[in-house]
Amino acid sequence: MSSSPPSPSSPLTGSCFCGAITYALSSPPVLRAYCHCTQCQRLTGCPFIHTLHFPSSAFSWTHDAPVHTFINPHRPWKTRTRCQVCGVTIASHNSKTDRVSVWGSHLARDDSGCILHWEDVRPTAHMFYGTRLLEIDDNLGKWEGYEGKSDRIA
Ligand SMILES: [Zn+2]
Ligand SMILES: [Zn+2]
Repeated sequence: MSSSPPSPSSPLTGSCFCGAITYALSSPPVLRAYCHCTQCQRLTGCPFIHTLHFPSSAFSWTHDAPVHTFINPHRPWKTRTRCQVCGVTIASHNSKTDRVSVWGSHLARDDSGCILHWEDVRPTAHMFYGTRLLEIDDNLGKWEGYEGKSDRIA
């Protein structure tokens, strides 16, 4: 585990399933939560996912392989990037907020499988909990939408 927060000299890094697509993040996230929204459920096939938001200025690609981008016509402000080799969705840019979101499961890990910089990326809440597919019994806040900007469910 690294003890210093992500910085330009010690960025967070991540990759897709096959490793062809890689990225780096030069600052800590501005949002970190478990997301239970229906978009994440459909994209991942999982009941919820560890989501991280960053200012787009902190995000950079660090690979050479071509990527595929796609836009859901119902959410045209969001551009998602997918690996052309393994098909995994690896990052999403929101043009309304100029933020990039990534999933914690793609972040680099140490030899024992633990995510590096965990204390800086550890989720602080469950968001969009109203559409949950699984009850979570932990001590994090449960929110209807974004943490601190919606009704708290539990
Ligand atoms: Zn890939
Ligand atoms: Zn979501």
